[in-house]
Amino acid sequence: MKPGPKSRPERQRPAPERRAPARRRPIESSQPGPGRSPALQSLLAFGAHPDDIEFGCGGVIAKETRAGRIVHFVICSRGEAASHGSPAQRVIEANRSAALLGARLEFIELDGDAHLEIRAMHTLKLAGIIRRVRPGIVLAPSLVENQHPDHPRLGQLVRDACRLARYGGVRELRRAPPHAIEQLFYYAVTPEAEPPGLTPVYIDVSAPEILKLWTGAMEAHATQAASRNYVELQLTRARMRGLRAGVGHAIALFPNDPLVLDSLAQAGQGARRF
Ligand SMILES: [Zn+2]
Repeated sequence: MKPGPKSRPERQRPAPERRAPARRRPIESSQPGPGRSPALQSLLAFGAHPDDIEFGCGGVIAKETRAGRIVHFVICSRGEAASHGSPAQRVIEANRSAALLGARLEFIELDGDAHLEIRAMHTLKLAGIIRRVRPGIVLAPSLVENQHPDHPRLGQLVRDACRLARYGGVRELRRAPPHAIEQLFYYAVTPEAEPPGLTPVYIDVSAPEILKLWTGAMEAHATQAASRNYVELQLTRARMRGLRAGVGHAIALFPNDPLVLDSLAQAGQGARRF
């Protein structure tokens, strides 16, 4: 299925913002560079831990970067509470994986692994990143509670940050002009994290080069992939969805808001093959 109309009129784009407090690794704005498609606004993906995005939706990332979309990762801990892998190892793995997928990577500090709390200051910090990166699409972990507690809390912070990013009067955000994203999608790191109340959109990731990139990106998180069979879990989930949808492999994303289509012709086929 093809999500959203590409022909929707461009929103007014404010002038590029002024840059960026010191120390943080700069992520450039979404202006397309050589070889980039000007039609695609960038994608901004948030992860609570260094491997969440890759395990939850790495195939989608591979597909989007290959289509010419600029992708930024924002990782909100170094996995310092994990059973396996030191924070230094996790950072190296995350950088390798992001490079493989063609994504840019930024680590930020919130409360630390396993300590994330819902705070207005975090929402504002994430909204500031959204204003700086100015994405069309934002990805965040799902809000389902029965998973690692950092995941749904980050999902909620990102959802609220998307809202504040477009409000003109927020004092702490005045450094950059307001920005309205096009769509927020949630990804599910595990089967249990799939939100039961949201109808998913399936992204076809069957192409061999996409599956290879996704697998490589997951395997780059070697300290995690060695401890449990996470890679096979994700590929099997995607294969199950692919079978339902009549394709090889598919990854589910869960839209926060209804998708808008120009016509029913864009809806494509539903995933009901059995
Ligand atoms: Zn995680």
